Amino acid sequence: MQFHHYGYVSGDPRVQPAAGVGLDRPEELPDEVDVLIVGTGPAGMITAAQLSQFPDVTTRIVERRGGRLEIGQADGIQARTVETFQAFGFAGRIIEEAYRITEMCFWRPDPADPSRIVRGERPADDPTGISEFPHLIVNQARVLDYFAEVMANSPSRMKPDYGYEFRSLEVTEGAEYPVTVNLVRTKGEDVGQEKVVRAKYVLGADGARSGVRQSIGCTMEGDQAFHAWGVMDVLAVTDFPDIRTKCAIQSGSGGNILLIPREGGYLFRMYVDLGVVPPDDHGAVRKTSIEQIIAKANEIMRPYTLDVRDVAWHSVYEVGHRVTDRFDDVPLDEIGTRSPRVFIAGDACHTHSAKAGQGMNVSMQDGFNLGWKLGYVLSGRSPESLLATYSAERQVIAQNLIDFDKEWSTLMAKKPEEFADPAELADFYVRTAEFPFGFMTQYPPSMLVAEPTYQELATGFPVGKRFKSAPVVRVADANPLHLGHQHRADGRWRVYAFADGVPGEASALTEWAEWMAGSPDSPVLAHTPEGADLDSILDVKVIYQQKHVDVDITKVPELFLPRSGPFQLIDYEKVFATHPEDDIFDLRGIDRVAGCVVVVRPDQYVAAVLPLDATEELAAFFRQHLLVQNRQPVA
Ligand code: FAD
Repeated sequence: MQFHHYGYVSGDPRVQPAAGVGLDRPEELPDEVDVLIVGTGPAGMITAAQLSQFPDVTTRIVERRGGRLEIGQADGIQARTVETFQAFGFAGRIIEEAYRITEMCFWRPDPADPSRIVRGERPADDPTGISEFPHLIVNQARVLDYFAEVMANSPSRMKPDYGYEFRSLEVTEGAEYPVTVNLVRTKGEDVGQEKVVRAKYVLGADGARSGVRQSIGCTMEGDQAFHAWGVMDVLAVTDFPDIRTKCAIQSGSGGNILLIPREGGYLFRMYVDLGVVPPDDHGAVRKTSIEQIIAKANEIMRPYTLDVRDVAWHSVYEVGHRVTDRFDDVPLDEIGTRSPRVFIAGDACHTHSAKAGQGMNVSMQDGFNLGWKLGYVLSGRSPESLLATYSAERQVIAQNLIDFDKEWSTLMAKKPEEFADPAELADFYVRTAEFPFGFMTQYPPSMLVAEPTYQELATGFPVGKRFKSAPVVRVADANPLHLGHQHRADGRWRVYAFADGVPGEASALTEWAEWMAGSPDSPVLAHTPEGADLDSILDVKVIYQQKHVDVDITKVPELFLPRSGPFQLIDYEKVFATHPEDDIFDLRGIDRVAGCVVVVRPDQYVAAVLPLDATEELAAFFRQHLLVQNRQPVA
C-alpha cells in the first residue's frame, strides 16, 4: 500500500483523501446523477465500489430494503472472487473470518445396505493450484459489508441510499441525462412518496425479478422453475463425522443434500433437495416448512441424525436455468448503431442452481467488468463505444455457466442406480473444477483484447484470461510478493515489461522504456492528461529475470521510477526481480531471450502479449479504446 506521497497520513491509510464529488457529497439522493445503480446485492455493490474510485463521476446506488442485508442468500466464494477481493483490498480480512474448503466428501448409499449412507471419494478442492487464493464460505451479507467499506473509504465517500424502490424508467436519447427513473420511498417519514432521478446511465442489479430488465424489454430464456431446495443455516448436534467438511450426500431413496460448513466453526448450511417442481405447483413448494426440511435431512442422512438446536435462516430456493439474450438496452439488431444507456447485471441476467455456488460470484464478475468501463467513459478517458463490450463479453459467459450448471445439477439429481460408476459425480467435480472456480472465462479479441499473435512470448498469460499472479521480489526493498496482488481495483491498466537483457545494459527493454517515456505515440503520454501523475492511467512495471541483488536500481530506466504527487517523489515500487524459488519467467513461460510486454485490463484480464519492439502495435491497441490526452514527455 502506498501513501504519504501527498503529505503525512496519521490515520488509517485505507481511508483515501476525499476528492471530487466526495468533497461535498449530498446526503439526499440528488435529482441528477451520472450513474444510478438499482440494488445493493453483490453485482450492484462491486460496481459501486469500482465507480467510487472515480471521484469525478457521481454514482448513487439505491436499494428498496431499509438497510444492509443481515442474513441469508449465497455463501460460496470462488478463488477468482477472492482474487478480486484482493484487488479491492479486503481478501486478507475476509479469508480470516471465512470457512476454507480444502476437500469435498462424497457420500452415497452403502451397497450392502442402501438405507444407510457411507463415505466415498474425498478429492482435494483445488488439487492443481489454479489460484494461490482459497475457496471460501462466508455469508453474502459480509461480502456486501466489505464493499460498503471500500465505497465509504473511497475518494467519493459513497454509501448506499436505502429505502428506495425502483418502479420504472424511460430513455430519451439526446438529453444530457437521458434516463428518467421513477422511484418510491420505502422507509422513513416520506414512505410512498415518489422520487424522479435523471441519470446518464442506469445499472439494474436488482436480482432475479429485475424491474429494470423488464423496463428495457429483455426476457429470460430457459427453464422457468427447475428444482427446489430447502436451504437452512443451522446450529445442530449430530453424529455425522464430516459435518465440518463440504459434502455431497446421496441417499438410497434418491434424496440428496449439499452440506456447506460455515464461517465461525459451528454453523452449517444444508441444501436439502425438494425435487423437481411441476409446472402446476403454483408456488406450493415455497410453503415447505423448516420442520419438513429438517425431517427430510434426517431421512437422507440415515443412519446419522441431526438434532437442530437453532435455525439462523431458512428459505426455499427455487431457480431455473435462465439467461437473457443481452445485458443492455440495445436490441440485437441495433448493436453498433447506438450506445447502451441501461445495463443489467447479476441475477437480473442469469439464474442457475445453487449447487455450483456461482450466483454471487458470476454476478460480481459482471459488475467488475462494467464498473471501470462506465468510469472511463464518464471521466472522459474512453469513447462511449467501450460500453458495448460489456454485454458482448458477459452474455457469453452467462450462457456457458447455464450450460455447465445444467450438466452439474442434472448429475447431482441422479438416483444412485442411474450412475454407470459410483465415482462419476466426484470425477466430474474434479475434472471441471476450473470452470466453477471462475477461471475458464476467456474474452475473445475485441477493442479490449488483442489477437493472441505473440502468445508464445508468455504462454502462461493466455490473452483474454485473468492474469494469473506469480511471486517476484521488489528490488528496492527485497520484499518477496505476488505481482498480481499489486494490481488494485483503482481503475488503472497495468503494463508489465518482462526484460530481455541484463539490467543497466542496452537491450530491447531499454529502447522500449525510452520510447514509452519520450515518444508522443507512447500510450503513457498519449492517454495521460497533462498534470496527472505518469502512472495515473497506465501503471507500467518492469520485471527483470535476474535476482534482486543483481539489479542496480540507479541504472533502471526512469519510466519505471516515475515521480508522483505534489512533491514529485520517486515511486520505487515498480521494479521487480525474480523470486529465488519460484521464477516468474519459468512459471509463466516467458521468453527469456526476447522478453515481452503483457497488458492487463483494470478488471485483471490479460489484454495483450506483445514483443518489446512492437511499439506501433502497442500504441494502436490503446488508441482503440482510450481517448488522446497528450501529456508532455518525462522531463
Ligand atoms: P441480489 O443479491 O438478489 O440483489 C438484488 C438487490 O436488489 C437486493 O438487495 C434487492 O433487495 C434489490 N432490489 C430488487 N428489486 C428492487 C427494486 N425494485 N428497487 C430497489 N431495489 C431492488 N445463491 C446461492 O449460490 N446459494 C444460495 O443458497 C442462495 N440462496 C438465495 C436465497 C434467496 C432468498 C435469494 C433471493 C437468493 C439466493 N441466492 C443463492 C442467489 C444469490 O444470492 C444471487 O445469485 C446473488 O445474490 C446475485 O447477486 P445480485 O447482486 O445479482 O442480486
